[in-house]
Amino acid sequence: TARDLGAFPKPRRILLLVNPNGGVGKAKRISDTVVKPMLQHSGLTVKEQYTEYGRHAVDIAAKVDLDEIDSLVVVSGDGVLHEVINGLLSRPNWDRARKTSIGIVPAGSGNAIAASLGTINSFVATLTVIRGETSKLDIFSLSQLNKPRIYSMLSFGWGMMADADIESDKYRWLGPLRFDVAGFIRLVRLRRYPGKVYILPPKYEQQTPSTNEQLTPPQSPNAREPESRFKHLLDSKIKELPTPWSLIPNMPYYSMLLLLNCPNMGETIFFSNTVRFNDGIMRLWYSCETRFMKIFMPFVFDQQNGKMVERGLMQDLECGGILIVPGVEGKPDEPSTHKIIDPDSVTSQSAKAQNIYQKPGLFDVDGEVMPTARTLIEIHPSLMNILVP
Ligand code: ADP
Ligand code: MG
Repeated sequence: TARDLGAFPKPRRILLLVNPNGGVGKAKRISDTVVKPMLQHSGLTVKEQYTEYGRHAVDIAAKVDLDEIDSLVVVSGDGVLHEVINGLLSRPNWDRARKTSIGIVPAGSGNAIAASLGTINSFVATLTVIRGETSKLDIFSLSQLNKPRIYSMLSFGWGMMADADIESDKYRWLGPLRFDVAGFIRLVRLRRYPGKVYILPPKYEQQTPSTNEQLTPPQSPNAREPESRFKHLLDSKIKELPTPWSLIPNMPYYSMLLLLNCPNMGETIFFSNTVRFNDGIMRLWYSCETRFMKIFMPFVFDQQNGKMVERGLMQDLECGGILIVPGVEGKPDEPSTHKIIDPDSVTSQSAKAQNIYQKPGLFDVDGEVMPTARTLIEIHPSLMNILVP
């Protein structure tokens, strides 16, 4: 046929990963009634696989034959896309795997990536897969001592919003509303999270001629994973970080801290329109505000107009790296700080007087919990490719 003679390009091969339990269980139906028919009618080669257990998508992406597929598309929420990224980047041939385009047809309850792309509608999302156009996608990595690195395309949170996000799992049956319900409860019962946060300026290589050899280790093209330039900072003996790292306003505690790689944090949370997922920087927002009305108002009125940051609730920083040292005031990184602190034993009289709890809090990466411990976050600009409308 003409196709065999090379007159037409070979049809693109799509592997669909469908989470039958995603969201409120609608992923299977969307795949059967929208995604598969549309892709097949467009002449694409489609294979479908259901995820059968939590983190199955990590295993699939880590083992799939990259010569057999052109795109990995999830029909689910952000959780399964997060797993696909981690599976691809865990491979010995990660440098090849990262070029496989990834895509999402939203069918979960957390659909921040699709909301950011404007593809919340499953027909539009499927047309995006058919079109095949891709954009670079920045990824950030999270490292903790003696733990495998975690990769994220979406968000890292600590404090009020992180606790709410994780606690929202209890209200999964509510669909996307689960985030609002959990958020409200967490706002009413506001906490303080003690710790220190250091940041590296964005694109620091160009701005600051490095006087510190340690900061620029040699490139190693055959590394088993995207390399870390700062892993040595995970050593808890390092108390003062070398320039160009700096401690952000020396606060003993935060009420919330959020790192975001795309404008939407969820289907109904349009956080800020200054974020791009391919600008090579991360935006960090943090607040030390614990007065109920100060936090409550922006959350109620500004969460869907991208103005929450503009209104000054949170400070906005651009950065190329972040080191978070959670812990009790004056005692960062002590083992005891990783335990839940009994609110009655809180030393700060003002916190007690205001009835505010101090907690180490949860670390939330793309909706999953990671241990609250000294954590290095680095950006890997344009590491992956994502299908875009
Ligand atoms: P949602 O947006 O509703 O959270 P996700 O796509 O993020 O949907 O998936 C939620 C979780 O479901 C992920 O952590 C994933 O590992 C898990 N998962 C995937 N397939 C299954 C399965 N067959 N059974 C149970 N859990 C699963
Ligand atoms: Mg999820």
